Amino acid sequence: MKAFEEILLQENFDKSDILRMLDCTDIEHDMLVNRAGEVRLNSIGNKVHGRALIELSNRCIKDCFYCGIRKSNDSVERYTVDFEHVKSAIDLAVESKIGSIAIQSGEQVGSEFIDYVSEIIKYAKAKDDNLGVTLSCGEHKPDTYKKWFDLGAERYLLRIEVSDEKIYHKFHPDNKMHDFGSRIECLKSIKETGFQTGTGVMIGLPGQGFEDLANDVIFMRDFGIHMCGMGPFLPCDGTPLEGTKSEFDDVFMVSLRMIAVMRLIMNDINIVASTAMETMRKDGRMRAIEAGANIIMPNINPVEHRKKYTLYNKIPSYELDSVDKIMKSCLDTIPVGYELGLEEKGNSRRFLVG
Ligand code: SAH
Ligand code: SF4
Repeated sequence: MKAFEEILLQENFDKSDILRMLDCTDIEHDMLVNRAGEVRLNSIGNKVHGRALIELSNRCIKDCFYCGIRKSNDSVERYTVDFEHVKSAIDLAVESKIGSIAIQSGEQVGSEFIDYVSEIIKYAKAKDDNLGVTLSCGEHKPDTYKKWFDLGAERYLLRIEVSDEKIYHKFHPDNKMHDFGSRIECLKSIKETGFQTGTGVMIGLPGQGFEDLANDVIFMRDFGIHMCGMGPFLPCDGTPLEGTKSEFDDVFMVSLRMIAVMRLIMNDINIVASTAMETMRKDGRMRAIEAGANIIMPNINPVEHRKKYTLYNKIPSYELDSVDKIMKSCLDTIPVGYELGLEEKGNSRRFLVG
């Protein structure tokens, strides 16, 4: 059997290597994270880039079993951020030199929503054509993706959530709106449109084992993503998965290993230090950066909206309504030896080199 150190120094990894890295001892965990940090510095440097996050709306047509804002959750008070608030959030993002915004939303497919997102992209690009725009607004038709891309949005994140079709159906209703094949088609369409394409999975879903995660990693590698946004599954009250437990002893540590493994396998992609990591542990985003993540997403939505964007049970959050507060929130998550990249889009190196 190969020594763990030997696996870490490889350039190509097979499934058994990936499994070995995910299901490792505490000492090996530290070795993996250190190696991922090293690989990250060599491939993309020490910068961490921000995307000022606007959670546009918690209205959603879908019913994913894990998600707190699923359509059937009647206890959620629904909102859509109005244009004035979106504009001030974008202005604040530009003022803070954060470099990019990210618009995330529950899925809505009507023309009103599509046009609203279009207006937001137009406003952002008119305000500062150097401002990066990432979208994460779910599944849409190819012409909608194209419309948003042509208006200047450059990155799109659509998590596959679970890369195995059979397991995917365990976590989604059995109907056309939650079809695995359609999600894959959307991801392909996003990539073909020309977006920097991101996907990711949830880590620690009930019944999920290391082998499933290894398959998820292989899926992301073989799809040829440019960005990865993944994070721990956090059971949410009022959903069918309320109170469920993961098979893993420590989902947080497994999530760090997923980041580190992705960094080793696709060393020049963008990897998000997700908010869900921070929900699990106060230093979650910093630990994720140390494990190889290079993107943070400070949430600039007003707290009154943030409280209602309950994908999972949240911890109370602070209003980031000034440049100083945004800066502090970003700098607080940057480990020693790393640097916050300001006034830069922080595009995926993998995308740029092709
Ligand atoms: N509606 C869009 C984007 C917003 S949801 C979409 O689904 O693609 C953003 C992400 O939140 C989802 O991709 C999912 O991975 C994550 N999410 C939802 N519920 C969650 C939970 N209970 N724990 C952790 N992540 C969750
Ligand atoms: Fe809607 Fe996204 Fe939540 Fe699914 S994960 S219910 S699509 S917001």
